[in-house]
Amino acid sequence: SGNYEQAVEIPSPVDESITLQIRIIPYAGNRRLLIARDMTRIQKMQRTRQDFVANVSHELRTPLTVISGYLETLLDAPECRGEFEPQLHSMQTQTRRMNRIVEDLMLLSRLESEKPRVDADPVQVGRMIESIVLQARELSGLEHQIIEADVDGDLCIEGRESELYSAFSNLVFNAVRYTPAGGRIKVSWHDSENGPRFAVTDSGVGVEAHHIPRITGRFYRVDAGRSRARGGTGLGLAIVKHVLLRHQSALEIDSEPGVGSTFSCVFAPEHRVAC
Ligand code: ADP
Repeated sequence: SGNYEQAVEIPSPVDESITLQIRIIPYAGNRRLLIARDMTRIQKMQRTRQDFVANVSHELRTPLTVISGYLETLLDAPECRGEFEPQLHSMQTQTRRMNRIVEDLMLLSRLESEKPRVDADPVQVGRMIESIVLQARELSGLEHQIIEADVDGDLCIEGRESELYSAFSNLVFNAVRYTPAGGRIKVSWHDSENGPRFAVTDSGVGVEAHHIPRITGRFYRVDAGRSRARGGTGLGLAIVKHVLLRHQSALEIDSEPGVGSTFSCVFAPEHRVAC
């Protein structure tokens, strides 16, 4: 098509087990420079890493379930709690944190390795947002941030419901985590010129511009202490990025330190469906 912006990956014409990345660079009028790179080893390493993370997180689930089960039993029985109650509570908090990390790692592995299903379902995003906002108010607890939703209930899109739920809830819960007590959070869902748009705006701590390009990386945190204290796993935005990629959308971040942030995404108009 004459569009050389993106490289393409193809099996080598002489040996199908080799993957080549082909990039074409136009130069000096009508000339073209073709660069072919052997991606086979890089792809194999990526797959090994993905499998390793998926296996480790899967293996950790059973021991964690046993530990949290016994901790609950100990905390429920006054004669067992005894003088160790604070330590048992601390163990329970950390076990829950490990559980969340393991669940997020497993979700991320699935998002990375599974091919998106072709047959997507109609998703009632308005209803989904209502339920996320209720949970966000619970998470907000004593901080009492004002959380509002401004949604078009008749606007539905085609997609994978559980994935979109993970992405949208991560963005809303982050707004709660990084907005001080009494701040404002607004979740909106409306049609725009470019297609249906989901956005979360907060009056929180904001993110400095130099962090933004790296913020969707795994375990990348601007303030690790705050993230851990508020129950973050450091994987939320990586999950958001992957889910949006699988829905041909992308995360946009507009933020000013000390003022607040807007995390938004636009879905292609062809994703719109009747509710
Ligand atoms: P975490 O579990 O640490 O929140 P995320 O991947 O969700 O991990 O986010 C990565 C980092 O991006 C966070 O640690 C935080 O520093 C920053 N961040 C995410 N959302 C916001 C927000 N709404 N306001 C300010 N900073 C944010």
